[in-house]
Amino acid sequence: MTADAAGAVREGFRRVHGGSPEGVWAAPGRVNLIGEHTDYNDGFALPMALPQAVALAARRRGDGLLRLYSAQGGAAAAAELRVADLAPGATEGWARYPAGVVWALRERGLPVGGADVYLDSTVPAGAGLSSSAALECAVAVAYDELYGLGMARPELARAAQHAENAYAGVPCGVMDQMASVCCTGGHALHLDSRSLEVRQVPFDLGGHGLRLLVLDTRVKHDLADGAYAALRAGCERAARLLGLPALRDLDGAGLPAALTRLPGELAPLVRHVVTENARVGRAVAELAAGRPEALGPLLTEGHASLRDDYGVSCAETDLAVAAAVAAGALGARMTGGGFGGSVIALVRAGEAAAVAAAVAEAFAAAGHAAPAVLEAVPSPGARRIG
Ligand code: ADP
Ligand code: MG
Repeated sequence: MTADAAGAVREGFRRVHGGSPEGVWAAPGRVNLIGEHTDYNDGFALPMALPQAVALAARRRGDGLLRLYSAQGGAAAAAELRVADLAPGATEGWARYPAGVVWALRERGLPVGGADVYLDSTVPAGAGLSSSAALECAVAVAYDELYGLGMARPELARAAQHAENAYAGVPCGVMDQMASVCCTGGHALHLDSRSLEVRQVPFDLGGHGLRLLVLDTRVKHDLADGAYAALRAGCERAARLLGLPALRDLDGAGLPAALTRLPGELAPLVRHVVTENARVGRAVAELAAGRPEALGPLLTEGHASLRDDYGVSCAETDLAVAAAVAAGALGARMTGGGFGGSVIALVRAGEAAAVAAAVAEAFAAAGHAAPAVLEAVPSPGARRIG
């Protein structure tokens, strides 16, 4: 996100709303390096922010109207809502995400009013790169500043998550929002989803001759939403059966005994969550020791766990991982909730083109549309840009 992006949304704002915004903010999408489906189990994750972001220009309104416009909104680009009338179920389409944030802030008793909002995003929607959290967090940081709320970053993330859960109806954990507001350039974010404590872990790809490719499979399978809620409910049931506050409270030492106490359909879910939390710890230790290349095998191991134990991969993500690894990637895994979306592949810089080409070839041979390729560069979190 550059001054150009700020200028472009200022111009869009002027065209749609007239006049000038009071400020321009940006909030990024993310990839999660490791720690998938752990956040709603109070566990650990290691996301990093992408350069792709939502840029949002906003100006307060005194009449209680929330006037929204998205450059990606298509035929329904514009929405006009009354802040006093915001309620779960009362808003349709994409506007649920930004309106939900204003609702969540109001629910907290904060003095928020209306605004004119214009936004434009470079985060592909529905690609597992968290365009939804980027959108929510852009609204949250803009409102925090415009209305002088003085909220800490984790509180902004909680409000954005509340919007997605209660207003957009998506039972996500808090990782995407924490990544969007707390990440810093050149770092991955070691997140404790229970305490919301974060640690910035230096992640210097270029200095180690590495690149991180994002292979967007461009598929999103229909079962994604229902399956996510069912998995979350399964984890919560397993924790209850084990007498634990959350699966975070089970570690590798206690896992074998716990598995014998669980019904067959829950045991693999628990095994994934426990081993995945451990992989986050191992990944952070490798980065702290200056060995980012050692993330490779952890990524591939994590993918196998998501595929075999958690059951959230699909033919396209499995194929992208297998083709990337066969072509020389140090490791690869699906990132995000699953059932499609994107795969990340850690590659030696000189092999990036060959790995991307091998995945494209494998997709063509299998009759899948070509994946879109992005590069993940650890980027700053939500901030004012103009
Ligand atoms: P992801 O977060 O992985 O990209 P989601 O399904 O969680 O996928 O969120 C995608 C939804 O978020 C879109 O369907 C749309 O409603 C909303 N959204 C994301 N970006 C934009 C945007 N730039 N303009 C309008 N709506 C957006
Ligand atoms: Mg999302």
